Amino acid sequence: MPITKTTEKVHVNDRKIINGKDADVVQLYPMKHTFAWEAYNVSNANHWLPTEIGMQKDIEQWKSTSVLTPEERTALETVLGFFTTADSIAANNLVLATYKHVTSPECRLYLLRQAYEEAIHTHAYQYIVESLGLDEAKLFNMYRENEAIYNKDSFILSFNEGIFDPSFKTGTLAADQKFLENVIVFSLIMEGIFFYSSFAVMFGFQRQNKMMGAAEEIQYIMRDESQHLNFGINMVNAIKEEQPELWTAEFQQHIIDLIKKAVVLEYTYAQTVFPRGIFGMNAENFKQYIEYIADRRLIRISLPMQYHVENPFPWMSEAVDLSKEKNFFETRVTEYKTGGTLEW
Ligand code: FE
Repeated sequence: MPITKTTEKVHVNDRKIINGKDADVVQLYPMKHTFAWEAYNVSNANHWLPTEIGMQKDIEQWKSTSVLTPEERTALETVLGFFTTADSIAANNLVLATYKHVTSPECRLYLLRQAYEEAIHTHAYQYIVESLGLDEAKLFNMYRENEAIYNKDSFILSFNEGIFDPSFKTGTLAADQKFLENVIVFSLIMEGIFFYSSFAVMFGFQRQNKMMGAAEEIQYIMRDESQHLNFGINMVNAIKEEQPELWTAEFQQHIIDLIKKAVVLEYTYAQTVFPRGIFGMNAENFKQYIEYIADRRLIRISLPMQYHVENPFPWMSEAVDLSKEKNFFETRVTEYKTGGTLEW
């Protein structure tokens, strides 16, 4: 957009997540969406790089024939097969769809940081694959070969259709709902549901003192992803507040239906990754865990819970429980600032 020469100042009430009035997206102030600025600062304080974590012990364990069972090897490879392309899918959506249509400069600032973190995550998977000497061609192509991963990714990528179209513009009810649907799908489903069976498997390894380097990489990634999810939820709730007309009963039901579909895709994936269970966690536990997670996502955007189940993996809640998330970050940010280490 060309700039107009004027002494007239931008008013905070004209700021909106999308469709900001004559959006001047280069003036960080007046700042309205302070959650984005806070998220940006937390992310900077949490900065990390994959190569800071040693992989020597993992390499020895992977080479040894007596540490990992064949099922555990398959599970690790399959989980990596999902991860290796997942963050690239997330990054593409941020850069090619979300960023363009967001008119809040502080949200854009955070999106730049988030996009960099997705790159760091892809680097982390590359680092694990390379360190362990795994077959890159097999793992990076798994999203097209493994049926359950393919089904999850196809579902997610279908929400790029339309919004990746260069002529897509916000400003109509249908377009704004499409944008909101995209944010919900990528934040709550991709980052908030589709990563979680894989996170649970990696923490399963960690609880057995196996593949601790790889698990630590994933812990850092999960910390970032909780922040991405939190930011996405804050954006969704801000859009709902700024444009309540988008949040129709029909749209709400549509979102509930999408989340229910995603839950089936995710537990089907979990069941095919470890058909006979892993580390004492079985298919039924994973189904219930995913349902539990989905309910938590729903209530964060004021939609009704659908499953009402207990968390079958209470040990995961220490690390993942989003109800503690605010506190979680508030209590630990300072430590990260000084030490940069990960303590749970
Ligand atoms: Fe992310």
